[in-house]
Amino acid sequence: AVELNCVTKSFGDVQVIKGVSLAIRKGEFVSLLGPSGCGKTTLLRMIAGLEKVTTGSIIIGGTNSTRLPPERRDIAMVFQSYALLPHLTVRENVMFPLRMRRLGRKDEQQRRVDEVLEMVQLGHLANRRPRELSGGQQQRVAVARAVVSRPQVLLLDEPLSNLDARLRESMQEELIQLHRQTGLTTVFVTHDQEEALSLSDRVVLLNEGRIEQEGAPTDLYSAPATPFSASFMGSSN
Ligand code: ATP
Repeated sequence: AVELNCVTKSFGDVQVIKGVSLAIRKGEFVSLLGPSGCGKTTLLRMIAGLEKVTTGSIIIGGTNSTRLPPERRDIAMVFQSYALLPHLTVRENVMFPLRMRRLGRKDEQQRRVDEVLEMVQLGHLANRRPRELSGGQQQRVAVARAVVSRPQVLLLDEPLSNLDARLRESMQEELIQLHRQTGLTTVFVTHDQEEALSLSDRVVLLNEGRIEQEGAPTDLYSAPATPFSASFMGSSN
């Protein structure tokens, strides 16, 4: 569903992504993992179209999307700061992308919003505003808003990093459930190995703008291919 071909990114003279090629299958849950500054967020933002690639190409759902603006890519993104609209209710926040893109008739939009709110267990909070919700609940609203328009690809940038440890664990479980229910192709950015290992079908470990190693969670964990992989997978950062 997503293909990166020899993607590079420079900011001024500094090359921060140094040639990344990666094919993500439809329905796959892939984590981009690595230490702070290795380029995870930049890579995700290039898939989203929020950052231009310097060289290389990005294909999404068979369409060369390298030069397409974010709104013309078949993706939805959830950020670390959920970026909910404070003056709108939960229901209105989730409805927002459908309204903006005029997707469906009004009654169809209503039905879809209800369906998604149930999926993330927020039906009973539909009329609240973001500030009247806990961090975990706000996070669920952001996820609901991202999936409401049925994108091909869901991009998540450290969506759980603002949550405390217990909530984080239960949100991880919810993300797994959501992925099972929707079969959405998901790209998940994290610096937390345990999180990457427990959520993903495949982990892509980045080191200074390059792929250091990729594979099934068990491979990375039990058969690190390089000293960097071994030390990163073994550390608790
Ligand atoms: P973190 O986990 O800390 O968010 P990351 O792996 O997501 O790190 P990026 O945010 O992608 O890393 O940053 C990769 C490199 O690119 C870093 O060295 C960063 O300083 C640099 N960088 C990112 N955005 C810009 C920018 N707009 N201008 C200049 N340099 C940038």
